[in-house]
Parts: sequence; structure tokens; C-alpha cells
Amino acid sequence: MGRSIPAVTNEEWAQRDANVVWHGFTQMDSYVDNSPIVVDRTDGRYVIDTEGRRYFDAISSLWVTTLGHRVPELDDALIAQLQRGAHTTMLGNGNTIVVELSEALSRVVPVDSPHFLYASDGASAVEQALKIAFQYWVNLGVEGRTTFLAFGGAYHGDTIGALSLGGGGFGTSIFDPLRFPVLRAPEFADPTCFDVACQMVADHASELAAVIIEPLVQGAAGMQLCEPADLARLAAACRAHGVLLICDEIATGFGRTGTLFASELADIRPDLLCLGKGMTAGYLPMSATAASGAVFEAFLGPDLSEKTLYHGHSYSGNALGAAVALRHLDLIEAWDVLANVRARSEELEQLLDDRIAPLTQVRETRVRGLMSGIDLAPPKEGLRWGRRASAGAVARGVLVRPIGDTVILMPPLTVTSEELHTTVRALHESIAELDDA
Ligand SMILES: *Cc1c(COP(=O)(O)O)cnc(C)c1O
Repeated sequence: MGRSIPAVTNEEWAQRDANVVWHGFTQMDSYVDNSPIVVDRTDGRYVIDTEGRRYFDAISSLWVTTLGHRVPELDDALIAQLQRGAHTTMLGNGNTIVVELSEALSRVVPVDSPHFLYASDGASAVEQALKIAFQYWVNLGVEGRTTFLAFGGAYHGDTIGALSLGGGGFGTSIFDPLRFPVLRAPEFADPTCFDVACQMVADHASELAAVIIEPLVQGAAGMQLCEPADLARLAAACRAHGVLLICDEIATGFGRTGTLFASELADIRPDLLCLGKGMTAGYLPMSATAASGAVFEAFLGPDLSEKTLYHGHSYSGNALGAAVALRHLDLIEAWDVLANVRARSEELEQLLDDRIAPLTQVRETRVRGLMSGIDLAPPKEGLRWGRRASAGAVARGVLVRPIGDTVILMPPLTVTSEELHTTVRALHESIAELDDA
């Protein structure tokens, strides 16, 4: 088969794209009309379309890119691993690079004596945590621990188990008949949220396999924040009542909040930790579920016995992903990336306070580390302000994507002061021109 006729303009590429690709979270009927960027190549913290236009990647390619695109050191790590082999199975066998990555991770994750079960997507890491937590109690011979507690507004992924834990919204109600019931604490915005959650843990301990939470920031809820002290209270309640705690750090992990993991800010040690997104710096699909030593040991027993965790994915522990993830951990330290996150975070907060929050079109801005949300305040429904503000920023060379009427800013962790200023300027202009027509 020959290649189809090469398209030239971005619009032509978008049409070819729409002919054959189905984009996630995207109405394909209006895909082309919303002027999508078709990326031809990337350069540092920029993506470049088929006509050579450059856009600052202010959403880190949906929250995965940490150090920027085409980092020479990461490219080298990937190429070096390619020469040793791209992938071998983790089922019953091992691979040296996965051992090395796991050793490196075990030194930095906020989990006691961790073991790592690898997968490819965040949602799979959550499914793994669910199944581990459920089977943990079965293996211990404890009956009735079959329920999970999750928060309003939570997002844990799009597979059915992860969807069940999620707070709903975004068209998930169609799947309500498939979602299994969970105990639901209020959303972060409710000031009684953690009081209620801690009380629910106490009241329902004998039914609960685990509590799952996005520590400090609920990303997909539009960057809803909670206080470290409240998170610490919840962790203490779980500990006191013998309920497992799952921290979903798929969005917050690998430096996003200014520490390597958000759990560190609350000084908590979850029993299960879900990692994904920034794990490979945005290079390759890799996720992991870290289990504490105590959880892991509950699965030990005779060969082929029922205590075994019968779960695995084809690309679990992919060697290319592992090589990049390992080098990524080195670079975060060598480049003092966390110091940049903290400094730029303060600067971003100041910029949003000065330039964005005062706009009449804005309700509220929120920042934690380099995760931030700008809530717009449309005077009536159906104005699609989130979409329009983002399109305006894209036209000004800054790639952002809204969640409803919240504009999300999630720049790479190596973002410069100048890039933050450019980004906020573009957003200021695009938000200021929003009207009720
Ligand atoms: C993105 C995300 C997930 C799902 O990860 P995928 O790789 O998209 O499956 C789960 N939890 C949180 C907190 C996320 O932000």
C-alpha cells in the first residue's frame, strides 16, 4: 500500500485526521471546526504544527511532560535501552532495567518497603490498586471488606473500576448501571469534607477495603485543592481504623506540587500509591502501583495458590519506559527541578492574582505547585467560555485546554519566568475579550 497524498496545511491534516482517528473526550462532529493543532514535531517546551507555528505547551501534553520535549539526556537513555531490547515480559521473569528503576523508586516514594506492579496507563494503576486492596482482606481471611470510599469530584481514570471511584460528570452517568457503588465523601470545596470523610471511615471501617484520594489536588475536577493537615487527618483515621489508604498521585507525582510526591507535604505514608502521567517525563506510557511491605506480604504463599495476585498487562515493566523513567529521576535531582517548581509556582500565583483574578470574567484562580485552574464566570449557560478563552490563547501561541469553564494551566516543570509571563499575557487578552454574545 502506498502512502496517501501528503497534506500540506494544518487544516488538511486535521481533515485526514478526522477521517480515521477517534479522539478521546472529543466530539468528532466538531473536531475540525475547533481548529485542532496537528503536531508535526516538538522543541523543548513547544509543540510545532504542520505549518511551522510554535505553541508553548502550557498543559504539558495533558499533564505528562515534565522536563520538556526532546530532552537530549532522555533521548540518550531511550536509545541506549533500544540497543539492549525494547521489551520483555514481567510475568514470571525479570529485566535488569526494571530492577534498577524499582530500586530507585523505592528510595523516593512515600511508601514503606514498597514493591512495584507496572502497567501502562494511570487507570490501570488504579484498577491494580483496587484489586490489591480487595484481595488483601480476602488473603487475610477478613470478611466484608468489599467497599471503597472516594470523594466527590474525584477522577481516577476511565476504565469501569476507576470510573466507579470517580465522582461522575463528563458524560459518565450513561455508565451508571455498570459503575459499582462506593461510599462517597463530599467534594473538596465543601468545608466539612474531611470531617465527614473521617467520620465515614470510623462508621464503616468493617466494610471498607480502602479509601482512595488524589492528595492535595483533584486535577480533573478543575484543580480543587485541600489542605495538607486535612489529608493527614484522613490518613490518621485510616490508620486508626485499619482501613487501607490509596493515594492516586498520577497527576501530582514526580514534582508537580513542589515535592516529588504530594503525600510528602502532608507527611503521610499510603499503603498503595498510584503513579503514571509524569513517570516517564511524558515519553512513554508507563504507570505503576506501589504496595507497602505489609500489603505485599499478604499475597505470599505456596506457588500457584489463591493468595497470588492474578493480574498483569502485556506491556507491564516496558524496558524503554523504565530506562527513561530511571534517567528522569536522576535529572529531577541533578537539575534541582523541584526548586524551579516552587519558585515558578509562587510567581504564577502572583501573576494570576495581579492579572487574571481581577478580570470581571473570572470567578477564582487556584494554584498548587505547577497545577492551576482559572474558573471563568459566564453570565449565562451555553457561552462556552472555557472553550473560547482557550482558543484565544492558542491563537496567541499558548496551548491550553479547558475543563468546562475552568482553564487549566499545567506548564512543564522546567518552565521559565519569561514563559509564565507570556502565558499569562495570552490568557489575559483571551479572557478579557470574552463577552456574552
Ligand atoms: C489522568 C489521571 C488518571 C488516569 O490516567 P490515564 O493514564 O489517563 O489512564 C487517574 N488519576 C488521576 C488523578 C489522573 O489525573
